[in-house]
Amino acid sequence: MLNPVQVNPKSIEAYREAAGDAVVDEILRLAEPLKGARVLHVNATAFGGGVAEILYTLTALMQDVGVKADWQVIDGSEEFFNTTKCMHNGLQGMEVPFTGTMTDEWVRINKENADRMELDYDYYIIHDPQPVGLIKYINEKARSAKWIWRCHIDTTQSFQPIWDFMHPYADEYDATIFTMPEYDPGGKAPVRVNFPPCIDPLSPKNTEMSPALSREVLSNFDLDLDRPIITQISRFDPWKDPLGVIEAYKIVKAQRPDVQLALVGSMASDDPEGWHYYNKTKDAAGDDTDIHILTNFEGVGNTEVNAFQGGSDVVLQKSVREGFGLTVSEALWKGRPVIAGNCGGIRMQIKNGENGYLVDSIEECADRILDFLSNPENSLKMGAEGREHVRGNFLTTRNLIDYLTLLGRLKDD
Ligand code: UDP
Repeated sequence: MLNPVQVNPKSIEAYREAAGDAVVDEILRLAEPLKGARVLHVNATAFGGGVAEILYTLTALMQDVGVKADWQVIDGSEEFFNTTKCMHNGLQGMEVPFTGTMTDEWVRINKENADRMELDYDYYIIHDPQPVGLIKYINEKARSAKWIWRCHIDTTQSFQPIWDFMHPYADEYDATIFTMPEYDPGGKAPVRVNFPPCIDPLSPKNTEMSPALSREVLSNFDLDLDRPIITQISRFDPWKDPLGVIEAYKIVKAQRPDVQLALVGSMASDDPEGWHYYNKTKDAAGDDTDIHILTNFEGVGNTEVNAFQGGSDVVLQKSVREGFGLTVSEALWKGRPVIAGNCGGIRMQIKNGENGYLVDSIEECADRILDFLSNPENSLKMGAEGREHVRGNFLTTRNLIDYLTLLGRLKDD
């Protein structure tokens, strides 16, 4: 067995208010023929980043509707995670080192984990590139199950050597899932579908929080709650562009000296680059005491993220590459319009000028921040539109419908 992750039970019935009766009824209908089916989700980390976030809810809701779903996490060495971070960066378009030593270690870890896998599942859903190789090294018995590879990354401009290495693994699968059709590089998997990830409206991170409670939570940090707060929640990672955020903040600060910036980022266990980029971000912030760089080590958990997203005057997600960007939907759901990088899956979420702004440069980002600060009523109006856009498209219930539909389709194949 790989490392099992315990998920707290959830009830699909509780989602009727957020998602609507028709959606929940559709889920129950799709789940009916899948009752008792055994499904194993596999990924590389139980904490930090969007995939772990999604799997806590998806696994629990699958269980609630009668699918026997489990979630397990692979083990890896430091060198393996350095390699997979390079693969991740390469798939997003960076020219990265990719040596034989790295691929040897990646194969070794995939083989080792494959040897430990249980063989009696009906479906294996493998998330992202780290464990994509399991299928090649698994015992024959498990090969008769249906294998799905869910890639959460924006692969539109992959660095070719990485995709050349990975695609023979992806080709072994019965089905692949990419967030957007343009991410799918093509291949031999016979079933290829596209759907975006989602947020859980009932998780502690996204559940309704009153302004008073949000202020109380934020008062635990060294912020002045009577001055405007600009926030970006994201891992410390070049693609999330925290350095660009600091530049934009500095432009704003020159005109609005009262602003404060919160850069909030959890440290994922499969992200060895995180601390390095955290230090770079700290250096860029210099001695400006209005820049607050916070992590899970300073006590920022789900409730605090909720408070920052709902309680900030401006929410940013200034990514330069983004598979989807759950943080955008999370903020929209709280009625906050988002100023976000014009890239990847963010474009599905932000309708430019309606529920936020898509920006292509630091200067544009700064201009939009100044707009929102000087026009808070407009910001509220756009926020309300954002919440409805998320309700219709990016809630966990929609994700469940997409997975159940795919499992049903593979069952009938
Ligand atoms: N997150 C968090 N605490 C932090 C930073 C991020 O809980 O300090 C969460 C964030 O709220 C979101 C997820 O981690 O749910 C990040 O997902 P996203 O798709 O935005 O980016 P990824 O990290 O997967 O690239």
